[in-house]
Amino acid sequence: MQDVCGPRGERILITGGAGFIGSHLADALVAENDVRVLDDLSTGFRAQVPDGAELFEGDVCDPDALDAAMDGVDTVFHEAAMVSIPKTVADPLASNEVNVTATLRLLERARAESARVVCASSAAIYGNPDRVPVSETDPLRPTSPYGVQKQTLDHYTRLYTDLYDLETVVLRYFNVYGPRAEAGEYGDVVSVFFRQGRAGGPITIEGSGEQTRDFVHVDDVVQANLRAATTDAVGEAYNVGCGTETTVSALAEKIRALTGGDAEITHVDRRPGDIDDSLADISKARERLGYEPTVDLDEGLDSVV
Ligand code: NAD
Repeated sequence: MQDVCGPRGERILITGGAGFIGSHLADALVAENDVRVLDDLSTGFRAQVPDGAELFEGDVCDPDALDAAMDGVDTVFHEAAMVSIPKTVADPLASNEVNVTATLRLLERARAESARVVCASSAAIYGNPDRVPVSETDPLRPTSPYGVQKQTLDHYTRLYTDLYDLETVVLRYFNVYGPRAEAGEYGDVVSVFFRQGRAGGPITIEGSGEQTRDFVHVDDVVQANLRAATTDAVGEAYNVGCGTETTVSALAEKIRALTGGDAEITHVDRRPGDIDDSLADISKARERLGYEPTVDLDEGLDSVV
């Protein structure tokens, strides 16, 4: 990963720090900071929390657990969420508690600590965009409770800078991939194709495969978080992608080659609500955060192998 100057000598809380993205972030921060992780281990793993970081096993929805974990913190990276879109469709109310209400409580607690909050939002808030690349000012038309909840969290977080002068930054992740993603519940297409390829196939593409995605390596997502923790450009949301588009068919071909080359590639019906194209305009993150993606897809897929 690029050598980025992140926070030093701080007390840091990473919610969801036993999960895919949160644990990579903990790895990057633990040497120079006092790192705490608040995680209920619902989709994360104790073993992914690095040595030197303190695990508070608890639910972000539990005010007492949140209170204890946030005591005296300088910066909070808020990654904990109900990340499974189908689960938010099945239970919008319960997922709203985790994705929205707990975030609001966290922002209130951060206000009491004057702590900076860096919050994980999602490209899902754009829904099916009118044009790509999509920029931060484009319309938000989420197509799932997950997307609506991330839109709400995104807005609330920025509002805390406007209303209360709290230092906040929102990062809208596109399709994040990398080591440890497979263990999680996000159901991302890279992990699914690797699992299918390793099992000898078939690798199943939903629809024609001509739909495109912006795959961003977790190291670059960590880089964006470290920059967000130290930037003066607060109260803003930033797209975090690679800025390049890849068809799902091309991804399937690459992963087939990396998993032995024998798997058959088949097609099934697309899921209702699945979007055609997703590509981040990352110029705002480039200009204001100094963010620059460093891992291209071929190199990044090698890191998963
Ligand atoms: P993950 O499932 O690996 O990590 C989420 C972590 O949060 C897990 O360790 C889980 O145990 C924990 N968690 C869940 N509910 C909790 C609760 N109520 N209390 C405490 N801990 C709880 O998923 P991830 O891919 O690392 O996602 C991290 C964040 O990034 C999420 O907010 C997600 O919505 C967002 N995001 C991810 C992607 C992606 O492509 N992976 C894309 C856009 C946004």
